[in-house]
Order: sequence, then structure tokens, then C-alpha cells
Amino acid sequence: MMSTTKTTNSGTTPPGTLGLPPHLSQLVADFELPTSLGFGQVMAPIMVVSDFSDGQWSAPTTVSYQPLVLDPACKSLHYGQLIFEGMKTFRLNDGRVALFRPELNARRFNTSARRMAMPELPEELFLQAVSSLSYHLRSIVPCGHGESLYLRPLMLATDVGLSLKPASTYKFLVIASPSGAYFASGKVTALIERLDARAAPGGTGAYKVAGNYGSSIRADIKATHLNCQQTLWLDAVNKTHIEEFSGMNFFAVIDGALWTPPLCDSILGGVTRDSVIHLAHGMGLRVNEAPIPIETLLAAIRNGTCTELFACGTAAVISPVHALAERDGTVYELPVLEFELSISLKLRKLLVDIQNGAHLTNYDWIRPVTP
Ligand SMILES: *Cc1c(COP(=O)(O)O)cnc(C)c1O
Repeated sequence: MMSTTKTTNSGTTPPGTLGLPPHLSQLVADFELPTSLGFGQVMAPIMVVSDFSDGQWSAPTTVSYQPLVLDPACKSLHYGQLIFEGMKTFRLNDGRVALFRPELNARRFNTSARRMAMPELPEELFLQAVSSLSYHLRSIVPCGHGESLYLRPLMLATDVGLSLKPASTYKFLVIASPSGAYFASGKVTALIERLDARAAPGGTGAYKVAGNYGSSIRADIKATHLNCQQTLWLDAVNKTHIEEFSGMNFFAVIDGALWTPPLCDSILGGVTRDSVIHLAHGMGLRVNEAPIPIETLLAAIRNGTCTELFACGTAAVISPVHALAERDGTVYELPVLEFELSISLKLRKLLVDIQNGAHLTNYDWIRPVTP
């Protein structure tokens, strides 16, 4: 069994050790944050790598950000054994940097790995990798409004061979991107997707598997052509019930209560979704995790009982959705609410305050990153 990807191994250091080798520290010191970050556009100059072979993960090492050398016959390229996570390192008001509920990402990564017949990664190894990378990059965690260091852990199969069999060698990486807000400010309209399906029962929709996103891009392009910023997916079988957005979970406010579809094997269980439900309960709101027929929701928007829609996820935090649209041009507009009247804006402020360390809660969600 041989690993078919290579990274430069000279001058590496195990994450968790205090110092970086001088050439890597120099890369971080020389890195200049551009004035306009965008989301996921700018890559940090170092990354963490670990390889799996003979049933074991190697000690993760920090290396310079660099291209992977992949054999063109490696299995991830052909059969899609490729999973990832999305999480953020935040700058706290006191200047330290911190992760938000990273244990949930470590656990979910392994849930994805099991679904794709890939090896699990010990949770401590995942947490050590994201913590040490965050620590080494602490000087470039941006601190502007809506900014953070977006972390992208990923795992891919590296075995060579075109037979359709699970691989026995894999690579785990964590790359990082200093990022601004996901949605540039402005109105968000979501296109109701009536034809394509994102995720089917028994499929991989509940996991962060690369293929899920490839198959949703066509619908997202259609949405963009119709001036929509998001795709709202319905259940694959009947196309009658709301599931979620392409990379965010769905919430509606109806008669002052929150509604979100219950988790199932075609909806990804977001860390943000879970956090929103906890925070909403703490604010005394009712939360209904119940199936939402699209026609019922559209009727509730028309008759004014549905007052807000929002998308939530690590990247988008909590983003109000101002309208739903159909391909024939029909638009269902939500009222524009001021902060005082808006449940989504209050939830967003509370979540952002927690992530910046400005708001202490009963929830033990913030993990300051220390050497
Ligand atoms: C990542 C993702 C979410 C949001 O999950 P978070 O853990 O809150 O970031 C929701 N839906 C899909 C399809 C996703 O890929």
C-alpha cells in the first residue's frame, strides 16, 4: 500500500508544539491580509496534513500551503471518496482567538467518513489539527465585522486503481482562509427548486460529502440567472416539503414561533441549526421541528402569518431571506423588519456576540485556542 500524494516533508513540525519552524513562521509573518477578503478566496500560507496507511494515521504535520501531487488514477478523483468540514476561528474581543463548538465538527467528520466507507479520524487528532493551525495563524485571524478565519478540514482517498473498491490510503488536510461575510449585504431571494434534487433518502445528503455540492451547482446557476442568491431544496421523492438551502439550514418564523424541518437522511444537521434551536429556547421562543409543506409556507407568507425566513450555517451565520421565487417569475416577499421586531436579527446578534466572546451564556460553546 503506498500513498500517492506527497507533500514537502522538510522542516515540518507536529501541530500542538509551540513554535513553527522559522521558514513557516516567516510565511505567516510575511502574509498580508488584502483589504477586501471575500469568502474563501484568500488561502493562509500554512496547512496541516496527515496520511492514513496500514490502518493508522500519521502524526499531523504543519507544512507550507502547496499543491497536492495526486496520481490521476487515485480513487477520490474517480469515485468521490471525499469529505469535508466547515468551521471558523473567531477573534474574541479580548484579542484571543477561539473555535466554536469544534467537537461537533470532529464528530460529524467521522459520521461522514463512516457513510463513505472512509477511515475515522480520532477526534483528538482532528481537534489538535484545527486548534494548532488556528494558533499558528492567530496573527491573521481578521477582526472586522463578519470576518473570521474559515477552516476547511478535508479527507480524500489516495489509492491508485480504477477498481470500484474502498481505498486503503487517505490524506487528511486542514486549510484555512481569512474570510469576510458570506453574503455581501443586500436582499437575499431563494429560488424554489422544483426539478433537481439535492439529496435522496438513503443517499449522502446528511453528510458533508463533496458530491452533494457538485450536483447542486446547476440549480444554483439557474437561481443566479433569475437574480436569486440561494436555492431552496424540496424533498427528492415528492417535491412537496422543504428541506434546506444548498449549504445552509432553513428556518421560518410563523405566528412568532420558529419552524424548521426535522433532521433526516437528506438534511445536513448544522452546528448553527442546533445552536439556533438552543438560543431560541433560551429566548423563550417555541421551536417546531416539523415537516413544512412548501404550499403551506407560501400560503403563510401570502396571508402574513409567516413574517421571516432565514438561512443558517457556519459560513452565512444567520442570514434573513427576504423573498422566495418560482421559475415562472412569481415572487413571495417577506416584510422588511427592524431589529426590534426581527427574531432572526436578534438571534444573529446573540450568536455573533457569543462567538466574539462578548456574551457569556449557560452554553459552553467557545474554545479559546492556546499554545
Ligand atoms: C454545512 C452545511 C450546513 C450548515 O452546517 P453548519 O454546521 O451550521 O455549518 C447546512 N446544510 C448543508 C447542506 C451544509 O453543507
